Amino acid sequence: MAGDRSQEAKAPVLEVRNLRVSYTTAAGPLRAVNGVSFYLWPGERLGLVGESGSGKTTTALSLMRLMQDTTVVEGGEVLLDGVDLLKLSEEEMRQARFAKISLIPQGAMNSLNPMMKVGEQLRDTIRAHQPKGNSKATIDARIQQVLESVELRLNVMDSYPHELSGGMKQRVCIAMSILLNPKVIIADEPTSALDVVVQRQVMETLRRVQVALGAAVILVGHDMGLMAQFVDRIGVMYGGKLVEVGPVRGIFKDPLHPYTQLLIKSLPNLDMKDVFRGIPGLTPSLLTPPPGCMFHPRCPQVIQRCSVDIPKFVEIKPERWAACHLCEGGRQ
Ligand code: SF4
Repeated sequence: MAGDRSQEAKAPVLEVRNLRVSYTTAAGPLRAVNGVSFYLWPGERLGLVGESGSGKTTTALSLMRLMQDTTVVEGGEVLLDGVDLLKLSEEEMRQARFAKISLIPQGAMNSLNPMMKVGEQLRDTIRAHQPKGNSKATIDARIQQVLESVELRLNVMDSYPHELSGGMKQRVCIAMSILLNPKVIIADEPTSALDVVVQRQVMETLRRVQVALGAAVILVGHDMGLMAQFVDRIGVMYGGKLVEVGPVRGIFKDPLHPYTQLLIKSLPNLDMKDVFRGIPGLTPSLLTPPPGCMFHPRCPQVIQRCSVDIPKFVEIKPERWAACHLCEGGRQ
């Protein structure tokens, strides 16, 4: 399982084991997450990166058990401090959300209720997920503390979401995610709708509150540049599987998997003289996935066995995991 030996003295705060999730479709089951396993250490920032349809958002929502009715968790474990979230009752899971594991959802700015003032939405979050008879004064004191920590003025409590800018709404979502001091925060493309300057400011705020709280973060996204600035480790997903995991510096310096290599090459940079090129080909159909390595129809380094044998996800060198036949021989 993909981990980091430098942290082995500590216990992981989150351990995902062989998670398998599918969608029920008219054409049959679509396996969106196919045997994903990883660790998350306390206070660590892990990025899950990949193209649309790689399974990263389904993985994130499955950890929170926030899937649509058509989604089936076929197997696996999601251990938060040793407790399997997939085995909790609905009520136990509701109490765990926000208090133990929270989500900044994709399009978070639009996830706020347009009919309710921000303060009331924040109060509702505390009442719904920590119903222990807190007084309104105690709840408001906590909300004020959290709003200050995300650099928002207290008068946003009396505002409706449409009265706030995109960056302010995003900060409200960050505030909501940390209200109950969770150990893990999942941020699913948290800044995709923001301009670059606001994006950077919001990510800095997220980093600051995360460090202050000591929470671990899973950042889900497709932007390798953003990952490089924010996370400690990266997990690259393709076709519902993790294909590479490692420390961010190592991955950018020496990506092992051909797909990771192409993701990094497709980042624009100022020295670029050639025509900008993305990754050739299309992401695989998960209803009728290609045999062998799912990446083989697009892989520039494909060899004969790639279309037949599924590569194993193995530790290639310390802290570096990959699923590729070219790496199995011990590429260094
Ligand atoms: Fe490419 Fe083969 Fe490696 Fe898959 S296993 S990434 S097709 S070289």
